[in-house]
Amino acid sequence: MGTKYIFVTGGVTSSLGKGIISASLGMLLKKRGYKITIQKLDPYFNIDSGTLNPYEHGECFVTKDGYETDLDLGYYERFLDQSMTKDNNVTSGLIYKTVIDNERKGVYLGKTVQVIPHITDEIKKCIKKLIEKKNYDIVIIEIGGTVGDIESLPYIETVRQLKWNLGRFNSLVIHLTLLPYISVTGEIKTKPTQYSVRNLMEKGIQADILVCRTEKHITKNIRDKLALFCNIESEHVIESIDTKMIYDLPFLLYKQNFDKVVLNCLKLSTSTSPKLDKWNVFINRYKNPKYKINIALVGKYISLRDSYKSIEEALIHGGTENEVRINIRWIYSGMIKEKNVNKYFDKISGILIAPGFGSRGIEGKILATKYARENQIPFLGICLGMQIALIEFARNVLNIKEADSIEMNPNTIYPVINLMKKQKNLTRKGGTMRLGEWKCSLIKNSKIFSIYGKKEILERHRHRYEFNNDYIHLFSKSGMESVGINNETGLVEAIELKNHIFFLGVQYHPEYSSTITKPHPLFKNFVKASKNYRKSIMYEG
Ligand code: GLN
Repeated sequence: MGTKYIFVTGGVTSSLGKGIISASLGMLLKKRGYKITIQKLDPYFNIDSGTLNPYEHGECFVTKDGYETDLDLGYYERFLDQSMTKDNNVTSGLIYKTVIDNERKGVYLGKTVQVIPHITDEIKKCIKKLIEKKNYDIVIIEIGGTVGDIESLPYIETVRQLKWNLGRFNSLVIHLTLLPYISVTGEIKTKPTQYSVRNLMEKGIQADILVCRTEKHITKNIRDKLALFCNIESEHVIESIDTKMIYDLPFLLYKQNFDKVVLNCLKLSTSTSPKLDKWNVFINRYKNPKYKINIALVGKYISLRDSYKSIEEALIHGGTENEVRINIRWIYSGMIKEKNVNKYFDKISGILIAPGFGSRGIEGKILATKYARENQIPFLGICLGMQIALIEFARNVLNIKEADSIEMNPNTIYPVINLMKKQKNLTRKGGTMRLGEWKCSLIKNSKIFSIYGKKEILERHRHRYEFNNDYIHLFSKSGMESVGINNETGLVEAIELKNHIFFLGVQYHPEYSSTITKPHPLFKNFVKASKNYRKSIMYEG
């Protein structure tokens, strides 16, 4: 059997959840036994997501192979329980750069370099690259943006060409649209979807399946109307109702035979039903928690929750394992002052200091960390969070008042957090941090060792600065131990405070590798410690 392709396009508006729909479909097909992968084609001109502002675009997700990608890849990994690679995310920036570099190398000598065929061919090459490395039954390709956007045109044209070249039953197009609900008249409107499908048709593509995002359930009448106006069978109109819990979505789609309709369109067998037992266990646990606790997430990109998507998800995974429902208290670090710190952490069972860049909000993070340390509140510092824990300890325990990170204060005479040697002469941004999976050896007899249950671990990184090794000894003498080391570089990857119920900092990002069926041990244990710390304090509501 040759590889089959499913293209997922968006219409009417962005942010309808194409990523989650693609991940849900991928999960259902994988659970039926198909070999699946998902690729995201992003229309922006950044080479990767590394240089995008989290406020605008949400979190930057890092793959094992060290690529800074779109946050949708996080959904793919968490839903499929499968690692993505550099090849799973392609941007227009990357495509155009390759074509322009090729032009300079003389690859197209004599030819006029154009969007069609050069850009579209390059997009096809990026799709092909995925299946050359591994044999997949089905590749789901999510096209970023919405149909009609100027910048997504080359992708849409590539879908048209591929659909034609691949022939019937080898590919299909799923179009995700919005059905607005007019509350005054109590009506669901189909016109924007009709226009969007027509827009796609003007570009030579007939959608095969419609997934309609909607606030209210859609009736048979609506399905029939959409079918008639969009040349789509009524059973191919699938509803994607707003749901508070994204993990319900695969089940809601499954109940409407979404995966079956897809497989039928591709002439693939539907004889084995998806094995959803583990998901069911997770959902039941999630919906019936025994405990409820508050965890403070302290960061500076709080206004857009997508900025911390993987952390939010990893907390849910860890919470569910402990039969705990976590209420994340999102705290903007810039607001935390000495006089109000008590107020912010009242009824909090655990404090997590988020990753981040730059100096804004740093002092608030330091105050939050001090509060956790002094009050024996379970603490987890991730990346910048670990660096903050070290600066706080230096200033308030070791009494080095001017201790700092050279990221915030390049002239500090006490650079507890220093720039890595390799980073010193780098001027180019984008893809130049310490990225992807690195080995870490855990010290026996440490808390972190007992959490992982093994000595050697691999975790993903995304940072430029490091704990300055000159200080390791001084810190450890006072109880802040370096408990995880990368043996090749000697860099400290994890720290923990003795005589504290749970105080851990990690230079890496455990949140990226937590999935629904395999919650990350650090989150699992952080939540466990938080639950045990203040079981009695439940959040309201
Ligand atoms: N800004 C810090 C560094 O580059 C931490 C980065 C992060 O938290 N991801 O080292």
